Amino acid sequence: MGCDNFRYKRILLKLSGEVLAGDKSFGIDFDAVAKISKEIVEVAQHGIQIAMVVGGGNIFRGSQAAAVGMDRPQADYMGMLATVINALALQDNLERLGLPTRVQTAVNMQEIAEPFIRRRALRHLEKGRVVIFAAGTGSPYFSTDTAASLRAAEVGADCLLKATKVEGIYDKDPMKYEDAKKLSFVTYLEALSKQLKIMDATAFSLCMENSIPIIVFDILQEGNLKRLLIDGEPIGTLVSARGGSGGYGCG
Ligand code: UDP
Repeated sequence: MGCDNFRYKRILLKLSGEVLAGDKSFGIDFDAVAKISKEIVEVAQHGIQIAMVVGGGNIFRGSQAAAVGMDRPQADYMGMLATVINALALQDNLERLGLPTRVQTAVNMQEIAEPFIRRRALRHLEKGRVVIFAAGTGSPYFSTDTAASLRAAEVGADCLLKATKVEGIYDKDPMKYEDAKKLSFVTYLEALSKQLKIMDATAFSLCMENSIPIIVFDILQEGNLKRLLIDGEPIGTLVSARGGSGGYGCG
């Protein structure tokens, strides 16, 4: 069951590089990208405005290269470029499915994509174009999770959807503990006090300070995005100021 009065009318979807790699440990899995694109098109057709931030960890992570001696800012520039590669792959897939998109980069490369211009991004969203933000924040030492929180605040997103390959957030590491339980609702303060790893501290505090709900969910599970945004099902884990089931479904 759905309704036209969706609670989340404008969303920021964060896709990590890992998600775009599908079952691979490196690079882009085009089947995974196609699958995710199909899900995005479906919710966009219902009129949900979609902004996205893509990661680059499937190609290059600055901190890993710095750990073996590379200059950190230089390594981070490489990481930011990796996110642009992912953004272009995603743009291509979405457009082949008939969905208009724009890529905006935080580092100027105008032959390839638009520069990040907030007001222009807002106009695209209003016109039903998916806006893919690439190159993170444009600055080294940050993550694309932080870019996602920042862009979510800048475009006034109703929530930040953190797409992962797991069902949500658990009370303890499900890889280590068999009795780990998936949490459905957590407040920002509970997440902090229980030291639940949701996003890095900068990203998390930006969401908390701006009261942007975060939903962590498994995007590779077919139909999850629609279930979450259109049908209002409590998929994944909702992190918000108040907790409880109030953050799902129709407004
Ligand atoms: N990066 C950066 N500044 C940013 C965002 C990203 O320098 O604002 C670099 C950093 O090196 C990072 C890489 O881009 O390792 C890829 O981003 P991230 O690791 O966040 O990707 P994800 O884990 O989401 O795939």
